[in-house]
Amino acid sequence: MRRMCDEPRRGLQGRKLYIHPMAYCGTRALSAALESIGIEAEVLPPSDSRTLELGAKYTSGDECYPQKITLGDYLKVLERDDPRRVAFFMPTAEGPCRFGQYVPLLRKVLDDIGYREVPIISPSAGDGYDGIGEFAGELMRTGWRAVIASDILGKLLLKTRPYEAVKGATEEAFQASLDDVCGVLRISGLKPQEKLERLVASLIRCRERFRAVPANYKKDVLFIGVVGEIFCRLNTFSNEDVIRKIEEYEGEAWLSDVAEWIWYTNIEQRRMLRLTGKGLSLSMLQAKLKGWVQKADEHALYAPFEEDFHGYEEPGDIQEILDLCRPYLPQEGASGEMVLSAGKAVYLYQKGVDGIVDLSPFTCMNGITCEAIYPRLSRDHEGIPIKNFYFDGTQSNLDRDVGIFMEMARNYRRKKTRERLYPYYFKRPAL
Ligand code: SF4
Repeated sequence: MRRMCDEPRRGLQGRKLYIHPMAYCGTRALSAALESIGIEAEVLPPSDSRTLELGAKYTSGDECYPQKITLGDYLKVLERDDPRRVAFFMPTAEGPCRFGQYVPLLRKVLDDIGYREVPIISPSAGDGYDGIGEFAGELMRTGWRAVIASDILGKLLLKTRPYEAVKGATEEAFQASLDDVCGVLRISGLKPQEKLERLVASLIRCRERFRAVPANYKKDVLFIGVVGEIFCRLNTFSNEDVIRKIEEYEGEAWLSDVAEWIWYTNIEQRRMLRLTGKGLSLSMLQAKLKGWVQKADEHALYAPFEEDFHGYEEPGDIQEILDLCRPYLPQEGASGEMVLSAGKAVYLYQKGVDGIVDLSPFTCMNGITCEAIYPRLSRDHEGIPIKNFYFDGTQSNLDRDVGIFMEMARNYRRKKTRERLYPYYFKRPAL
């Protein structure tokens, strides 16, 4: 029987590995990390109407919206490229969420329409994304650094763009910074410590690029937390670039990052080991070691941003988010993004945001569960406005709905007691 997930490199001879741009920045960084171990990798071209056409052709309508988008985008590649020269990257997960169906459906569609030879490379959340083949150790380390570096660039973009005095200057700094970081991630043959040092130096250059963006930092801009399903909240095509709309209504977004999900899969991996009687095992030791190394890398990469990210600090341990979620969704009884979204909503309230939006694909179980508990969560936290936005490619009143939500956030801001902390540059005189 054909294996659904093919081991990297062995199945990649002479092929380019395409990666879906769930988050464009993170995917560019991940493809650079793959190139550092000799895998030719490329980010898929942007999604468009053809993506949705092809996705709809091979789905019934019951599938998740991200599945339709990823399927459509991979099929679009096959309209252009030689199938003998391509492979597709698609992570997977076990459990109740429909994410576990993405790889089997992609495989089935490819087989049905005659592309049996196209490999799918598929690391899994169940093993904390460890199972990625012969170069797993090196790739895991560089890949993790790519996640952190791209999360940092994403934060720099969102905290600067709403205040830019020259339209497009932030985007320019962002693209130059992404090229800079990817250039370092792509280098092969460096010792881990040297690579880390070069990456830190690159991030310091990025920090200076963003600091140089002409901007008017003013305190009347609304501060909006963004949580939700990971694909939908990060992929600007699927969420119709809702963060730009928030910015048009004079808002600044704090978007939940990718690292949050990796920390969550790590903690779940250890919980499952304990539940299966492997609390004292080699697997547990390896899982803990991985966590320690990742924490050390994260600390080193964030260190130059202590001043710039004052007021934007992420929790020191993902357990903090899970504990905040416990009164609503205990970690042991609910899994996936719903616990992260609800817990992060409380965390963001504590950090002084003026409102929270939850972005999810239409019919997503995570969004639906959270929507059921948000009214109580909001009542418990001074009535902070929390709104679910669902996406399926047919949104018609997004602009109106964002406008209404921002008015609610403005009203909440007048009476809230949790004040936001501002970084030093908010004291700059207006340009
Ligand atoms: S989180 Fe929601 S949209 Fe994403 S795969 Fe699971 S059910 Fe589908």
